[in-house]
Amino acid sequence: MPELPEVETTVRGLASILAGETISRVSVRRADLRRPFPPDLAQALTGARVSGLSRRAKYGLIHTDRARTMVFHLGMSGRWRIDPDEIGKHDHLVLETGNGHVLALNDARRFGSVDLVDDDALDAWAPFAALGPEPLGPGLTAQHLARAFVGRIAAIKLMLLDQRIVAGLGNIYVCEALHRARIHPEREAGTVSLPALKRLVPEIRAVLEESIAAGGSTLRDYARPDGELGYFAKDFLVYGREGDPCACGRPVARVVQGGRSTFFCSVCQK
Ligand SMILES: [Zn+2]
Repeated sequence: MPELPEVETTVRGLASILAGETISRVSVRRADLRRPFPPDLAQALTGARVSGLSRRAKYGLIHTDRARTMVFHLGMSGRWRIDPDEIGKHDHLVLETGNGHVLALNDARRFGSVDLVDDDALDAWAPFAALGPEPLGPGLTAQHLARAFVGRIAAIKLMLLDQRIVAGLGNIYVCEALHRARIHPEREAGTVSLPALKRLVPEIRAVLEESIAAGGSTLRDYARPDGELGYFAKDFLVYGREGDPCACGRPVARVVQGGRSTFFCSVCQK
């Protein structure tokens, strides 16, 4: 499933082609993904100039000179393909640029989404309105977490996955950051000290930034030979490593919290 670093890498890869370019042709090749494509999507984008791209949580934003933004979510299996050899049956939206590139949004399971949002309505758009600060932005601080956690008995792991507290932080990155900050994932959030939260915030940023860096910094790195953007393998210290030795020697443990696996070390994390 595309996580925040993959979305960020995808946005950077798309920006290297789309930023400043005109969209010359738009093909909407089926009616819907998770929800219907906007009925006026092709009309709204054809001839528009892309003024920039950005990311909010796990959404990618393609801004245009028409004061409207195309917002995409990759769902479970979504990916953009750049200049594919041929358009396949899972390429549901195809954009062509004025300088001859073809960008295909491919989504076999169709849990993704595409929306058009007026620029002045973006902050209030329902999926964005309740989001907490970006983990890589200035709003995420130890003090922000401390305020959000006051009196909360829920496990810190679950609180960090709450998009209202931090936007777009996925299971992998929460496991890794808690391990690196030596905080037990089952600790009641309200009992985690401010010094521990001050260790945690830079580790959240570091694990995300390392994963983004693993996605490459040039278009040639972003796009695999088949043109697929944004997917890469990174080794993690605890995620997916149940039974493997932690750096301390103790096997990495796994518990299920909120229906999802948590990987941690019971010696290193308190
Ligand atoms: Zn350990």
